Amino acid sequence: MLARLDQPIVAIATAAGRGAVGIVRVSGRGLDRLMQALTGRVGTPRVAHYGPFLNADGSAIDHGLALRFPAPHSYTGEDVLELQAHGGPVVLQLLLARCLEAAAEPDPQASGQQRLPGLRLAMPGEFTERAFHNDKLDLAQAEAVADLIDASTEAAARGAARSLSGALSQPVGQLREGLIELRALVEATLDFPEEEIDFLQKADAIGRLDRLAARLDGLLATARQGALLREGLQVVIAGQPNAGKSSLLNALAGAELAIVTAIPGTTRDKVSQTVQIEGVPVHVTDTAGLREDAQASDEVERIGIARSWQAIADADAVLLLHDLTRLDQADYRHTEAQIAARLPAGARLLHVFNKADAIDLPGLADARQDARIAEVVATIGASADGLAPIRLSAKTGTGLDALRRALLQLAGWQAVPEGVFIARERHLRAMRAAAGHLAAARDWAAQGDHALDLLAEELRLSHDVLGEVIGAYSSDELLGDIFGRFCIGK
Ligand code: GDP
Repeated sequence: MLARLDQPIVAIATAAGRGAVGIVRVSGRGLDRLMQALTGRVGTPRVAHYGPFLNADGSAIDHGLALRFPAPHSYTGEDVLELQAHGGPVVLQLLLARCLEAAAEPDPQASGQQRLPGLRLAMPGEFTERAFHNDKLDLAQAEAVADLIDASTEAAARGAARSLSGALSQPVGQLREGLIELRALVEATLDFPEEEIDFLQKADAIGRLDRLAARLDGLLATARQGALLREGLQVVIAGQPNAGKSSLLNALAGAELAIVTAIPGTTRDKVSQTVQIEGVPVHVTDTAGLREDAQASDEVERIGIARSWQAIADADAVLLLHDLTRLDQADYRHTEAQIAARLPAGARLLHVFNKADAIDLPGLADARQDARIAEVVATIGASADGLAPIRLSAKTGTGLDALRRALLQLAGWQAVPEGVFIARERHLRAMRAAAGHLAAARDWAAQGDHALDLLAEELRLSHDVLGEVIGAYSSDELLGDIFGRFCIGK
């Protein structure tokens, strides 16, 4: 790991494809010699120098801006050189290759030595990983960089920007400081047994403990919302062929995505789309008509059906779509039982009655529909989870808002986007574990003086596990997992 970190790295930092500007970025030590070779001058730090990017024979690859950021005042904390050229894939590849070549050339100033020994292509996330190792960012902030780049909604992007500026790391740091103070009190009492409980009482140890636990709970609640903003909600639309699944996906997405036809079994494969509801990304998958495999007429359709079942097994919510014009025909109970058997723990099934427009009869409509829905619900007996069935029309859009609200309710979204920072499941796990240790500490504290060492131990565990959020303790494996998911050049 350390040897790897010692080597200078280079990558194209901008997205693949064509763009107005493209950037090649180098990080390492002693980059002024590389800048000299590429641009013919060392230049002033943090000043953009316009000029040619030079081949070994003095010809120009392109003209652009060269910028040098000497350590430690750079993104990675090392020397960084940024070459801003025209954003064509070939130009940038040539520039990248030229960097590697120039690094290996002998330095005319230092006889025989290479300009930048060991310059190599960066691995995914390696620039940010270096920033983490050089204390430019903590781990939660480094993750926020990736989450900002990957954000699928505006709210998620805002949340990631907040995490990047420390909205998660700072309160975690403050909680850890509070825990250190408390540990110092308890451990001092352990060292001087004659003081014991009296001393802890005077210092209001239990009050401090309770306040720390309350703050952690508050932070965890916000982090849960932040995790939802990042992960979004996996929603599957299931139901009989022709119930209107594709139409509903289109209506939610507001675009013609899936193929809508009147022939049963035409949705052959799942079609997914991310829609946003109050900034929460909702990943909606339209499944192939969930008929029995034996009924499927061909192999392609059978594969589609198998994928649909897989999507259900990964869902947070399944919308079981009923066709109001064909309620009597539909064998929804069988489908529902099959779905329920595959739903993951904690996921919900919501009955949605589509084509409300088609059975509207002047004056009679509502009563007639409600009676039919009530009849179905009574036979299914499926509203046990307290979610009212939703009646809508994918065609006219009536009832779509109620569905959106129900989805947010299912997700546990509390509509507090102000101040929500992005968080990951990893952070939630660590914070829940820390809260568990605090609860245990509280129990030992209530037991009196004979449990002081156990109290101290739980406080220590809580402090340590909170440190995992910001990477105070992190294994190479965890870091590899986190940074490996970044794009190259970040
Ligand atoms: P899928 O097989 O479940 O994906 O169903 P489609 O979305 O392809 O729709 C099947 C048929 O029902 C099409 O002819 C749609 O136009 C029609 N349909 C879908 N939703 C509605 C609706 O809300 N009202 C009416 N009247 N027709 C609908």
